[in-house]
Amino acid sequence: MKIEEIVPHGMCAGVRAAVDLAMRQRDAYCLHSLVHSEIVTDELKSRGFRFVEDVEEVPDGAVVVFSAHGVSPSVRARAAEKGLKVVDATCPVVARAHRAVREFCERGLPVVVIGDPAHVEVKGLLGEISGGRTPEKGGRIGVVCQTTLDAGEVARRVEELRRDYVVDSVSDVCPATRERQEAVRAFDGDAILVLGSRDSANTRRLCEVARCRVFTAGSMEEVKKARDQMEGLGRVGVTSGASTPESFFESAVSCLRRVPLHVAFIMDGNGRWAQRRGKERIFGHVAGARTLSRVVEWCGRRGIRYVTVYAFSTENWRRPKAEGDGLMRLFAKMLKTRAGSLVENRVRLRVVGRRGDLPESLRESIERVERLTAGFERQLVVCISYGGRAEIVDAANRAVEDGRKVTEESFRRLLYAPDVPDPDLVVRTSGERRVSNFLLWECAYSEYHFTDVLWPDFSERDLDIALDDYSSRHRRRGGVA
Ligand code: SF4
Repeated sequence: MKIEEIVPHGMCAGVRAAVDLAMRQRDAYCLHSLVHSEIVTDELKSRGFRFVEDVEEVPDGAVVVFSAHGVSPSVRARAAEKGLKVVDATCPVVARAHRAVREFCERGLPVVVIGDPAHVEVKGLLGEISGGRTPEKGGRIGVVCQTTLDAGEVARRVEELRRDYVVDSVSDVCPATRERQEAVRAFDGDAILVLGSRDSANTRRLCEVARCRVFTAGSMEEVKKARDQMEGLGRVGVTSGASTPESFFESAVSCLRRVPLHVAFIMDGNGRWAQRRGKERIFGHVAGARTLSRVVEWCGRRGIRYVTVYAFSTENWRRPKAEGDGLMRLFAKMLKTRAGSLVENRVRLRVVGRRGDLPESLRESIERVERLTAGFERQLVVCISYGGRAEIVDAANRAVEDGRKVTEESFRRLLYAPDVPDPDLVVRTSGERRVSNFLLWECAYSEYHFTDVLWPDFSERDLDIALDDYSSRHRRRGGVA
């Protein structure tokens, strides 16, 4: 089965802006789903959001977020009467449709809204209609459509209306929706897997416009089920609705390709490699740095999006000062010489750990390269002055400062790189079989692969052996097989 990512897919600008806005609120209520995504809803719930279906359920004076689908004027008026602090996440495209309805009404035109009357967006648009004029045969009407409809379907409906009325103006379906639908329509493989929530209208529409077999999934469990059902097919396209987070898309694609999304390495054996050659340990670290560059490249070619490496632990400060200083100089040199290749290969660098322990000039170099590579999707996460326990302690202290009880989800957000998914696979070289205080929280369900190869000798074949080992395992995450 060949997995192909259909472009464009996933979150549109309107959903992204709504989610960003909501994530900045505290103690807030959300009127209806912010966007139609169970993943986003769960995330907001874990941040203390409460979801209501009626503005009357929001206590007077509270913060209320209006969803990306918009609300009717009567809801706005009621919110004002109740003294609610309104955070308006209405998508600008939906807001434009509201303006169109108002303008038609001001001009005295009867308005026809094309869409699903049960959808929140359509209810909001209908709420804008004032005057209640009935269309007369041969008369002029204004037409507005639900933003996520199929453009072809809208065109057909408008043509039907033109038989009886003079259609004055039509607000188009949203461009983001149209582009995603066109990409799906153009895919000519054996099947398409559409990722997204079942209550998302634009996700359902993607299923409807596909010209081949369609599978759907709203969770990783469903992705695995779909993968089994699609086994043996040729080309399979993957797309996602406009409210589906990219992190879910990435995890699903990795699962379908049976490639880990995130591989972490404990790069052990540099010192022994050098000693076996009668050289200073720092020579081993230099050779190890070269291996790291190659490993990042090999992982990229195999579709692995996140690579995390354990470069220098909090315990490593106990090593002889000369070795510690030599390593800091090596990090600084690597940043200087490898920044260009990170940009060329579109890899984002992130350094995590207790940065305050590092020399100031090194900190500045790190920040410079992080800024330079900030926009790239693939990520290299380098743990320097890092300890798994230290990370948990730092997160716990932040929770205490915040004065809030934590849940697993909210605690995770206090870790050094909360947006990076947990490693699927941890590879440790040089024959040691310990975790050594590496990503203690994040590796709760990771698979481990140990090899006797010393890190500087770690080859492309060794990586493939580790990946084969990973793909042969059945990950249950504590569930039942
Ligand atoms: S799909 Fe279009 S209308 Fe809906 S939120 Fe996204 S940009 Fe806005």
